[in-house]
Amino acid sequence: MSDQLFQEAKQLDAADQLKAERANFAIPKDANGTEVAYFTGNSLGLMPTSARAAVEQELDDWARLAVDAHLHGTNPWFSYHERFRETGARLVGAKPGEVVMMNGLTANLHLMLASFYQPKGNRTTIMVEDALFPSDDYAVESHINHRGLDAKQNMIRLTPRSGEQTLRTGDIVGAIEDAGDTLALVMLAGVQYRTGQWFDMPAITEAGHRAGAYVGWDCAHAAGNAPLQLHDCDADFAVWCSYKYLNSGPGAIAGCFVHERHGKNPKLPRLAGWWGNDPTTRFKMESGFIPRPGADGWQLCNPPILAMAPLAASLDIFDRVGMTALREKSLKLTGFLERAVLSVAPSARIITPTDPNRRGCQLSISFGDRAKTIRDTLQEHGVVADFREPDVVRLAPVPLYNTFADVARAATTIAQVTAPANA
Ligand SMILES: *Cc1c(COP(=O)(O)O)cnc(C)c1O
Repeated sequence: MSDQLFQEAKQLDAADQLKAERANFAIPKDANGTEVAYFTGNSLGLMPTSARAAVEQELDDWARLAVDAHLHGTNPWFSYHERFRETGARLVGAKPGEVVMMNGLTANLHLMLASFYQPKGNRTTIMVEDALFPSDDYAVESHINHRGLDAKQNMIRLTPRSGEQTLRTGDIVGAIEDAGDTLALVMLAGVQYRTGQWFDMPAITEAGHRAGAYVGWDCAHAAGNAPLQLHDCDADFAVWCSYKYLNSGPGAIAGCFVHERHGKNPKLPRLAGWWGNDPTTRFKMESGFIPRPGADGWQLCNPPILAMAPLAASLDIFDRVGMTALREKSLKLTGFLERAVLSVAPSARIITPTDPNRRGCQLSISFGDRAKTIRDTLQEHGVVADFREPDVVRLAPVPLYNTFADVARAATTIAQVTAPANA
């Protein structure tokens, strides 16, 4: 069985058009000095080797030019965020100007909720998933409280049908229709962090708009993973972090999408700062905020350049390779993982949707009471995966740096626990 998997992996790796990309990443090694099979790029992506020189470049400019680097640096700091205008937009299917890279994810979510949660009269509720990521849960709750409303009464929480792990699109649309004119905002994950489900973003966005609500997406697990079309799906806003699939380092600078129809509307309420002001008047130091058009108008602070540098290094890779090629490999890699795991552990239950159009690269696998043992055994064999209570192991094969051989290694290690004949 395991020979057969490694044999198949060898052929798939040989045919892989993106196999050279792996060399652009630092791959951690296990205690024996062997490269690990890293399946937690959904949690912290590996370091692009170009990140170091990118940071050093900015340190050098700081040393050499100090304040003059704002205008005369190699990558002038005054307009540094504009480096992401095109690459950031292409990454998530947006138009240039609809994406800005700034702050952290939760901070961006707060900025978006300040603009897009405008309870009025009867229209006061926010629809979320019950299994919402805690930080998003706190952010939404705090905005409802902040407006003097009761969060318990104004959060509509979606739960899967009994016995099911993921939400059905029809049920979400039905819940939106039921909420009708009480609904102020729908805020869901693009790809759900625990189950790996990729929601039907166009259908849900359309349903939300039909009900008269705004619709925003947390794309923490979707950006750089699923081929997003944020502009065409007509989302009002989206936010994401850059340290997961975007490989931009711990606490990396996050992303924010604002649809162009809102970016052109200076009247939309927002929390303002000087970096969101029209750059031609920014240094006049006068009162009277004039937002620059587009997502740029939500910026608060002059950006932390040393943290932006690894992001630039990483997005250059995404832009060069392109989401289309990444997705093509991702479908094969995750499909291979699915087949390999089910071949060695037929009783495992993959809770991630089986339809490739409803998932990114991550598979969340329920192993019952063996889940923790499996995770620990993987770890002992240099396969890095994570465990989520009560019984789920998450494996995310990332097309930029994972190999089909990594997948075979994970599956044969799982077989040591699940197949008594091999023990
Ligand atoms: C990873 C993640 C976060 C983390 O938020 P930070 O502000 O980056 O710390 C928030 N929400 C979701 C859905 C996530 O997956």
